[in-house]
Amino acid sequence: MFILCSHLEMNWNKEQQLLDLESGERLEATCKICRHTFSVDIDELLEREEMQHLYLDQLEKRTVCSARGCGGPVILAQLHQNEVEGFAGGLA
Ligand SMILES: [Zn+2]
Repeated sequence: MFILCSHLEMNWNKEQQLLDLESGERLEATCKICRHTFSVDIDELLEREEMQHLYLDQLEKRTVCSARGCGGPVILAQLHQNEVEGFAGGLA
């Protein structure tokens, strides 16, 4: 079960680099245009040396919507693995 958490903290994405993320944490991107959400594969990004020290707000600027024909800007949210239940998933 994953819950949304750190996106409410000020500047969380300016102070954290990809390397700082613990395994089990995930990033979810939400398109500002079409509201499509998709998860960002952190492990895949960490395999690329130039990405490892990227701050999450920089990653946010580089990430674009994965929906076909959209490619809009996204907002990143951090998902923590958590035993608390009740996150029913998304805003839809
Ligand atoms: Zn989109």
